[in-house]
Amino acid sequence: MIISVASGKGGTGKTLVATNLALSLNDVSKVQLLDCDVEEPNAHIFIEPVITRRETVSIPVPVVDEDKCTYCGLCAEICAYNAITVIKEHVLVFHELCHGCGACSYLCPERAISEQKKEIGVVESGQLGEMSFVHGKLNVGQAMAVPVIKKVKEKIEPDAIAIIDVSPGTSCPVIESIKDSDFCILVTEPTPFGLNDLVLAVETTRKLNVPCGVVINRVGIGDGRVKAYCQENNIKVLLEIPLDTTIARLYSEGLPLVTYMSSWREEFVGLYRLIQERLHEGSRSTKR
Ligand code: SF4
Ligand code: SF4
Repeated sequence: MIISVASGKGGTGKTLVATNLALSLNDVSKVQLLDCDVEEPNAHIFIEPVITRRETVSIPVPVVDEDKCTYCGLCAEICAYNAITVIKEHVLVFHELCHGCGACSYLCPERAISEQKKEIGVVESGQLGEMSFVHGKLNVGQAMAVPVIKKVKEKIEPDAIAIIDVSPGTSCPVIESIKDSDFCILVTEPTPFGLNDLVLAVETTRKLNVPCGVVINRVGIGDGRVKAYCQENNIKVLLEIPLDTTIARLYSEGLPLVTYMSSWREEFVGLYRLIQERLHEGSRSTKR
């Protein structure tokens, strides 16, 4: 089973939920935690895995042989990302904008474009006891998160409960991380900002046809509009985490909640059971 943990905005407690869910289920099942928040991966701070493997991630970027080039401009015309341009008798390639799609080299009539690999990030894998762990890290200054996320997801073990920590927002990296999930947990907080971003995140999961449920973090601030929205839209609130100074302190010190407040272990196992129930109900209604 693949469970992604996402949020419409940053700082809602997504990594808190992903890491504590993984640690709690590790006692009862085979678990894998994958951190796809490749621009700012921080699940490893809470898990402290032993990293045993490191692989670089590259994309193919164009290199132009100007001896063959006729400066026809076709490559610049077809590049959807403005990563290549022709100015008089010069072809300029902006590697940081290139998505490595290969269209320019494929379509160049003079075969003047070859490709060279450009490293954009790394994927590291390791273990914490029985739990396997994978995260991606995008190199500083790189904008292409999706190839790194794809590489992380290639490591999903089909016989494990794979928990994916997704980057915040609703952009391409989020879609790449959530798609193919069996269920998506959306973490939010009970504030107007939390609600605004939750609505966008729910729309994203619905477009991807991934069932979702909500975890409300920092209950005690804000108002009841997030709950009302969930009720109106038939979205299950799976867990509520109170605004609590001990929880906040543990998180700020990079310490797992379930290790230091062990009663939360049951709460997170309960969260998983609710997801199983939702999926079971969903499969029954599909069969009907
Ligand atoms: S398509 Fe090929 S020949 Fe035309 S400008 Fe680009 S590199 Fe040069
Ligand atoms: S590989 Fe694709 S994105 Fe990169 S310069 Fe060529 S057409 Fe543009």
